[in-house]
This record gives sequence, structure tokens and C-alpha cells, in this order.
Amino acid sequence: MKVLKFGGTSVGSVENMSNVKSIINDGTKKVVVLSAMSGTTNQLVLISNYLASGNVKDAEVSINNLKQNYIGVIDDLLPHADLNKDVKRYVFSVFSNLTAIVSKPFSEGLGNAILAQGELLSTYMFNSYLKQEGVRAALLPALSFMCIDEFKEPDMAYIATQFEKTIKDSGDADIYITQGFICLDHVGEISNLQRGGSDYTATIIGAAIKAEEVQIWTDIDGMHNNDPRYVENTKAISHLSFDEAAELAYFGAKILHPQTVTPVRADSIPVRLKNTMMPDAHGTLISSKTSEKGVKAIAAKDNITAIKIKSARMLQAHGFLKKVFEIFETHKTAIDMITTSEVAVSLTIDDDKNLDKILGELEKIASIEVDKNQSIVCLVGHAVVNDRNTYKLFQILQDVKIRMISYGGSNNNISILINSKDKINTLQKLNTYLFERATA
Ligand code: ADP
Ligand code: ASP
Ligand code: MG
Repeated sequence: MKVLKFGGTSVGSVENMSNVKSIINDGTKKVVVLSAMSGTTNQLVLISNYLASGNVKDAEVSINNLKQNYIGVIDDLLPHADLNKDVKRYVFSVFSNLTAIVSKPFSEGLGNAILAQGELLSTYMFNSYLKQEGVRAALLPALSFMCIDEFKEPDMAYIATQFEKTIKDSGDADIYITQGFICLDHVGEISNLQRGGSDYTATIIGAAIKAEEVQIWTDIDGMHNNDPRYVENTKAISHLSFDEAAELAYFGAKILHPQTVTPVRADSIPVRLKNTMMPDAHGTLISSKTSEKGVKAIAAKDNITAIKIKSARMLQAHGFLKKVFEIFETHKTAIDMITTSEVAVSLTIDDDKNLDKILGELEKIASIEVDKNQSIVCLVGHAVVNDRNTYKLFQILQDVKIRMISYGGSNNNISILINSKDKINTLQKLNTYLFERATA
């Protein structure tokens, strides 16, 4: 069986939902994972933030605006009177629960419950739409099988058993629809797989059922060789290895959640990226096949904090780096880049939630400099460190201040750290040099 995931834009309008129906309705059984309609999760985050800061009035206004949007969509999507009535009843109950939450004391659990409503709404609506169109569909509640452990990792054994049970309980169907993004945590509370997490849902399910293939359907024709939001003339890449895709997703290619390929690479389950609005375009195939050598793509990750730890006296002493790493470990903060010199070690983090605590401890053993608003720009490709086109990197970027460089940590990745204000210029310059000129 295949697993097909459709993102926010793909279920964001009646026209696009009709495209999705045509793509999935080919007579073969499949699992279909849906995101929330585009914009909904952002609105829910806003509502949750209003409530967290005690701003009940703006939360109520946003809840009401969102509800009106849904009523409009339901009337266009579901002319069938009974289904229209049933879906409205469901949608009204979701929004009256949200309105009821407003008066409760805010907690993280409540915030997660609010964020989960987008996928619950989109799947309920789409399931009814398929019924109206005569497609044999069944709704699988993701909260019956999708679960993360105390380290926020998917509990694969539980998911595989519970998914099988949930599918059996749902009765026979051609299309099994489920919610992306949402899950239960290890104590059974509603949680999620982080923003963009529906991609991850799809590959987790793909791994759990040993799917033949996972397809991620979105609003662009596959992984491009640079970020199309900032650079002109980017092109779709027809094939990526798991390693290349993992690096690109981790280092900021928004088309994929950072963990997307993790569940499927061990079983070499291919992941195909496709465009819902242009289903005939080839897209990108991610598989275990090794790619040709050379730079395949450039990605950038923002909101990076760089920390320079200086200690002439201690750096060479045994155990100094261990002490530094332990501080980050204690505060559950991952390090992305690291470079060392005789007198200092520089590293970067993207999660600065515990920055103050980390700095408090580092200051006891060294002097510290912190730079916020940094971006990691990353060149990815098979054996990219040996590519003859990358040696000119510094020359091409001579007017950009490079704060750190990471070369050789992996054969597939060269990363530089720059101030975020230089990001677009850097991406464009690298694009021109690497992809737009004939390589001599
Ligand atoms: P969905 O809602 O379908 O999950 P996303 O917005 O999460 O879609 O991802 C698709 C978007 O990712 C594209 O519209 C594009 O703007 C952005 N993007 C960023 N980097 C890349 C890249 N290298 N290749 C393709 N798309 C990218
Ligand atoms: N709806 C969630 C988000 O916007 C998950 C997803 O779209 O993948 O982050
Ligand atoms: Mg996404």
C-alpha cells in the first residue's frame, strides 16, 4: 500500500480538494494523510498565544473569523444536504469547544489541543466530500495510533500495532484518511510532531506498514535546487539520495519536515515529492540510489544563535569540550555546527529556549560571546566536499562576512554561518555560480 500526504495548500480550497480526489481515486487502496487547510494552524497558534497572554477578547475574535471561513468552504464543498448538515454540526462543535476553552486557565496541554483542531477539521470535511463523490473512504483517527515517547520520538512498535487495529476497526474502504501532525504523548495527552509535521506522519505510517512508497503532495514540483521563496530561476531536482534529502530537510528546505526521511531510510522506502496542481510533473524521487557527485542544492536555516566560548587556559585541557557538551546535553539543546581553534570553540544552536541557563553555566568556565539572527547556508550533494566547483566558495562570497564554516563533517554537506541579513544575497550568488553558468 502507498501512503500519500497532502499539504495545506492541497486541501486549502474546494478546487484543490477536487484535484486531490482525482489523484487518489485510482482504484487502489491507500492511506491519505492530510494537513490542516492552509493558514489554519497559523491562526490556531495565534489563538493559543492570545490565550497564553490572557488576551481573551482577540482570541474570541480570531475563533469567530476562522469559523466563518469554514462555513463558507463547507457550503461550496458539500452541496449534498445531509452531508452539509453533518459536517456543519461537527465544525460547530469544534468551534464551540474552542470558545469554551477560552475561559479555562491556559496550559501547554490546552495549547496543543487547540493546535490539533486544524487536521481534525480538514480530514472530517474531506472524508465527507469523498463520500459525496461516491468514493469508498474511511476516517482513521490519528490519536488512536500516533504516539511519541518521552524523548518525543515516534513509538514505532505501538504505532505499527495500533495502526493495524485502527484500520481493521474502520471497516473495508479504498481510501483511509488520517490526520497529519497530531499525536498523543507518552502520558496520553494531545501533542504534535512540530510545525510541518504531517510529512513526518506520512513517513512514520509508511515505515509502520512497510509501504511500497510514500508520496508528499504539495504546491511545488519537488525539491528545488535553492529556496524558491528567495531566489529566482530555481529548478526541481529529479532524484535525491536519503542522505541528501535528510541534509536539505534538516538545514531548512521548508518543503520537508526536518525528520521526514528518518523513519523510511532503514527500509529504503522511496519518498516521492509531487505537485498537486501539476500532477504530471516528475517531481523528486528520494531513494537509496546514490546520486552523481556534485552540489545538488542549497538550503538555509534561520534563527540560529552562535556562541563563542573562549578559554585560553582551559581549551587544551582534557575534558573541557566534554564539559561544554554536557551543559548543552543537560538542557536538551542540539548543536548544529561546531568549529574549534587554539583559544576558542564556536558552535551554533537553533533552539534557544534554554539559552539563558546554558550561558549561565558556560560563563562559570569560560568567557562567552553570543550572536543572534544568524543563518546556516548549506551546500548539499553527494561527495560535495570533493566537488571542483565548491573550491571558489570564498571568492564568490568575498563581500559576505562568513562567521563559521563546516567542511568535511559529512561528505554531503558544506555549511557556512552568516548574518541573516546577508542570506538572500548569499543564496543568489551561490545559485548564479553553481547552477546558472556553464561550468568550465
Ligand atoms: P505543505 O503545506 O504542502 O506542507 P510547505 O509550505 O510546507 O507545503 O512546503 C512547500 C513550500 O516549501 C514551497 O511552496 C516552497 O515555497 C518552500 N520551499 C523552501 N525551500 C524549498 C526547496 N528547496 N524546494 C522546494 N520548495 C521549497
Ligand atoms: N498543519 C501543521 C502545520 O501547519 C502541520 C503541517 O502542515 O504539516 O504546521
Ligand atoms: Mg509542509
